Amino acid sequence: MGKATGFLEYARKENLFRDARERLSDYEDLHIPQGAEERACQASRCMNCGVPFCQSAFGCPLHNLIPEWNDLLYRGLEKEALERLLETAPFPEFTGRVCPALCEKACNLADDGVTNRDNELYLIEKGFEKGWIRRRVPTVRTGKQAAVIGSGPAGLAAADLLNRMGHAVTVFERADRPGGLLMYGIPNMKLPKGIVERRIRLMEEEGVVFRTGREADPEELEAYDAVILCGGSRKPRTLNAEHMDAEGICFAVDYLTKTTKALLRGENCRFAEGRHVIVVGGGDTGNDCVGTVLRQGCASVTQLEMMPAPPAIRTSGNPWPEWPRTLRTDYGQTEAVAVQGSDPRVYETTVKRILTDDQNKMTGAEIVKLRRTPAGKMEPVPGSEEILPCELMLIAAGFTGCEEKIPKQFGLATDPRGRLMPEDGSHCLGGKLFSAGDMRTGQSLVVRALADGQAAAREAHRFLCSWR
Ligand SMILES: Cc1cc2nc3c(=O)[nH]c(=O)nc-3n(C[C@H](O)[C@H](O)[C@H](O)COP(=O)(O)OP(=O)(O)OC[C@H]3O[C@@H](n4cnc5c(N)ncnc54)[C@H](O)[C@@H]3O)c2cc1C
Ligand code: SF4
Repeated sequence: MGKATGFLEYARKENLFRDARERLSDYEDLHIPQGAEERACQASRCMNCGVPFCQSAFGCPLHNLIPEWNDLLYRGLEKEALERLLETAPFPEFTGRVCPALCEKACNLADDGVTNRDNELYLIEKGFEKGWIRRRVPTVRTGKQAAVIGSGPAGLAAADLLNRMGHAVTVFERADRPGGLLMYGIPNMKLPKGIVERRIRLMEEEGVVFRTGREADPEELEAYDAVILCGGSRKPRTLNAEHMDAEGICFAVDYLTKTTKALLRGENCRFAEGRHVIVVGGGDTGNDCVGTVLRQGCASVTQLEMMPAPPAIRTSGNPWPEWPRTLRTDYGQTEAVAVQGSDPRVYETTVKRILTDDQNKMTGAEIVKLRRTPAGKMEPVPGSEEILPCELMLIAAGFTGCEEKIPKQFGLATDPRGRLMPEDGSHCLGGKLFSAGDMRTGQSLVVRALADGQAAAREAHRFLCSWR
């Protein structure tokens, strides 16, 4: 601990957001990074606690050595701090941008937790800028071949670790570019796509082979000594409303993917221009849709959430160091307030019916209020129906598990939650087959997918080393 009184002297200061109206005119990074001096100041707030909750099961799933690299950062030893960070974190340039930072909420400084995410991002970007990030090519190869199916964070983390352990790794990805939801899902303003491509290039230089536009093919995979399935949790939950076949209804990830593809090709992507938009789902994906339709010049945006609004402060049933289940206003909602003058979120409400014209194009939606029954279910409130104009509806209601194709192809059974989760909680599905990421755990977070991909790689490594 470099500075004993840092946490008393300095207030928590996160990277600032660019002005909401200014950032709505582009898809660039939302934040303005801070300089070395502020970062050192923020790192000095870390108390190097005897029991660092930031690293515990409540905090960082990668168990990053947070107090150690905060101390090095405070002391100006940036290269050493980065080395310490990279001991556990495979891709800090992703987590430094998109992680909700479980470690900060579990920090002993509670609501004023150390700005670990911004500190991490500063270190990795400094590393790339200064040329400290070098190719890590294994000096010895094992002669074993591993295949990874899916190139989201879980697949990338598994491929990275297996490659560093000396195995020859091929990643099969059905999309035209690697990255999974990092590439097609999470919008550019949260994670610029050049950042994903920079990491893929580095992994290629380190020896990982990416085969894009290629679905998993069990026959082709027979040639590999281990296969790690990282296909994600990609079966979207739909709505139980009338006329869901209308034109103008789209799943959130499909819409966000279409936008990113158009941006990467330099094409027009104003798919929501002039339209009244309803986003169904009050979570983070819904917020990403709100931010994106606003950038595309929508006429209005409303975000529906069937559950009640979370409380403003923690309840007694949700104490520190648990993740706080409290009301958060994210970037998209802030931008909606700047444009529309009001928060787009409407709670305890769902869609009952889609209104269409004679060509089956969506023109509006009948929405209805919900209330909780004594049994804890949400039910419609009779007489509370209302019609909203709507030409584009984006469904961001979560995922019900992995797609059926991979389990069917490999003769595997999913659990009742649609996951390829082995009964013993391991990653091994039998023989040389392993699973990781959202495909194994259900929809989660980038940092959890990274940790799970690494854990699967370690299991696969033990398997690969168990015979010659
Ligand atoms: C819109 C959106 C925004 C999000 N924002 C955040 C955020 O800000 N922070 C955060 O922590 N988490 C966020 N998440 C969650 C996070 O992105 C996921 O938890 C994470 O990407 C899961 O990683 P994964 O590697 O398991 O799967 P995925 O990222 O889903 O990758 C799976 C890959 O497998 C490929 N694939 C599937 N089937 C096959 C096949 N048969 N053959 C070949 N390839 C196949 C897919 O094309 C895909 O590329 C977000 C999720 C969404 C939907
Ligand atoms: S809990 Fe907070 S203050 Fe303590 S070591 Fe972790 S980051 Fe530092």
